[in-house]
Amino acid sequence: MSTTPPSPAAFKPLMAADEALATLLAAVAPLGRTDTLPTPAARGRVLAQDLISPVDVPPHDNSAMDGYAMRAADVPAAGTLLQLSQRIAAGQVGAPLQPGTAARIFTGAPVPEGADAVVMQEQCEAVAGEGGAPGAVRVNIRPASGLAIRRRGEDVAQGRTVLTAGTRLGPAAIGLAATVGAAELRVAARPRVALFSTGDELVQPGQPLPPGAIYNSNRFMLQALLEGLGCEVHDLGNVPDRLDATRAALREAAAGHDLILSSGGVSVGEEDHLKPALEAEGRLALWALAIKPGKPLAFGQVLRAEAPGQPTHFIGLPGNPVSSWVTFVLFVRPVLLAMMGVPRDALAPPALPLRADFDWPRPDRRREFLRARLNADGGLELFPHQGSGVLTSVAWADGLVDVAPGQAIVAGQTVRFLPFSTLAP
Ligand code: AMP
Ligand code: MG
Repeated sequence: MSTTPPSPAAFKPLMAADEALATLLAAVAPLGRTDTLPTPAARGRVLAQDLISPVDVPPHDNSAMDGYAMRAADVPAAGTLLQLSQRIAAGQVGAPLQPGTAARIFTGAPVPEGADAVVMQEQCEAVAGEGGAPGAVRVNIRPASGLAIRRRGEDVAQGRTVLTAGTRLGPAAIGLAATVGAAELRVAARPRVALFSTGDELVQPGQPLPPGAIYNSNRFMLQALLEGLGCEVHDLGNVPDRLDATRAALREAAAGHDLILSSGGVSVGEEDHLKPALEAEGRLALWALAIKPGKPLAFGQVLRAEAPGQPTHFIGLPGNPVSSWVTFVLFVRPVLLAMMGVPRDALAPPALPLRADFDWPRPDRRREFLRARLNADGGLELFPHQGSGVLTSVAWADGLVDVAPGQAIVAGQTVRFLPFSTLAP
């Protein structure tokens, strides 16, 4: 049993996650820099201005089927025979349809003037003409006016805003931009992020593992998370557990970057140098957050010699890999999206109400984020080992169950689920 009195830090009230996030977001502003990119290259980026359609989509009434275009009024009963007057394939424009005739038509072809219905070929019978004369078609249903016609502008009307500034462009948005004819898109520039890890025990994968050492997992993991968000990452490697080295890393990282991100060294042990280093190189707020995993989180600014009025933001994540992951998706992700101009109301991860297929009988006093996976019955199962060093839990999981402080869970209850499909695509 220890006889040392608890440090003053132990008495500090823990900060709620929502308060920490609000403080972070209040401190950052959109970067304002933009890139104009060919539309396919804009995937994953954030749109910098509204995209307004200069065209109707589709641009003309067109056939939804392979079949025959006609005037519905010319077919008073099933079995009516109509002469074929023309053939219209996709990409062609037919002539106005003569009354009492039908046009052979294919999916996507413009419906000829005068026609108001298309009957699919499965509901018609082609009747060959005699001696090279054009044939006829027997229509085996009584079509309603408008049948199988896709109307001009039914998808997008000209002048409509199809994508708003601040939208993250996924594959569907790229397709939509192409639909309205946009060859280029103006998007937010990639945030420039300097990344480093700390810890004398860390060894780079590929190297032999000496006694006492572990492989550096956060460095690659955080790089992947940052790249997934569309950041330009400058990897400054692993910084030794020394004050001078940590200060030098911060100075180097501040130049030319929008954010410095580190992992480890933010506890208050003797080997944790980020706090004094940041106090020397800029400003620091070190928070003990009321979340599990992920208690210590550092936030501050590092002064830049070349631009003293524009310090670079700094976020220091805890070293335990699961804590690093959780604090990244909860705090770093929204900060970077805000820098890219995503609106505040779109920063929170979607919380899906899902059924817990597990019990959680001994809740913590802190808000917990449990690694869970969707099962085939649409419920959630927990990874059996929820330790903050067990990265297997994150790789196994589909997302996090957000458990309120002190909330016990009984199987069958509905819980809040934060999917990695959105948090860490
Ligand atoms: P720290 O926050 O530096 O006190 O580290 C907390 C725990 O996380 C220790 O067990 C470290 O060895 C471990 N850790 C810190 N950084 C990393 C890293 N980059 N990769 C894997 N484990 C780490
Ligand atoms: Mg450390």
